[in-house]
Amino acid sequence: MINDFALGDHVIMRKPHACGGNEWLIIRNGADIKLKCMKCAHIVMLDRCDFIRAAKRILPIERSENPIEEKE
Ligand SMILES: [Zn+2]
Repeated sequence: MINDFALGDHVIMRKPHACGGNEWLIIRNGADIKLKCMKCAHIVMLDRCDFIRAAKRILPIERSENPIEEKE
């Protein structure tokens, strides 16, 4: 189960999307989580509990490359 994720992270879901891709980008992180499919650009919204259950792995590849979100 995943427990640490942030806006801009890429996430691998347990079940692949209908388009065959299973990598998603987190575009909204709040009470609901909004995800964009990296393969077909489809957008879905899940509530936080469903997202945590459905996610398999977080790929925090964007976080370290974004100077705006850098902490002191
Ligand atoms: Zn897709």
